[in-house]
This record gives sequence, structure tokens and C-alpha cells, in this order.
Amino acid sequence: MRVRVDPLVCEANAVCVGLAPEVFDLNDDDELQILQPDVPADQQDRVRHAVRSCPKAALTLEE
Ligand code: SF4
Repeated sequence: MRVRVDPLVCEANAVCVGLAPEVFDLNDDDELQILQPDVPADQQDRVRHAVRSCPKAALTLEE
């Protein structure tokens, strides 16, 4: 599973960071960083939840 972000849509509100902090992080410029774009098996449920919870629908999954 891969996850990516559309940086033009993301508003850096950190909802996904709160739900899956091992995969998502905000950098010092308040831009979303995807730490593990190839999502490890033990993070996939968290990442699916984060993708569904993004209020801007800025995250995309490729299964
Ligand atoms: S939840 Fe969505 S809008 Fe918020 S930081 Fe994550 S990708 Fe960006």
C-alpha cells in the first residue's frame, strides 16, 4: 500500500499526524511530510483511517 498527499489541497491541520504519527509529520515549514510512503503492514489500518478522516480529502491510497 502506498499513500500520497496533494500539497495543493492539504491545509496542514495535522489530523492525519494525530491518527498515524509514524507515517505522517509536519515539517518546520508546516508542510505535510510522508515518512513512510510505502505503508508498513502494521500501519495500514491507521493510515486508512487517516485518509478517511482528512477534512480536505488530500490523501490518496494505492492498494
Ligand atoms: S489531515 Fe489532510 S489536510 Fe490535514 S494535514 Fe493531513 S493531509 Fe493535510
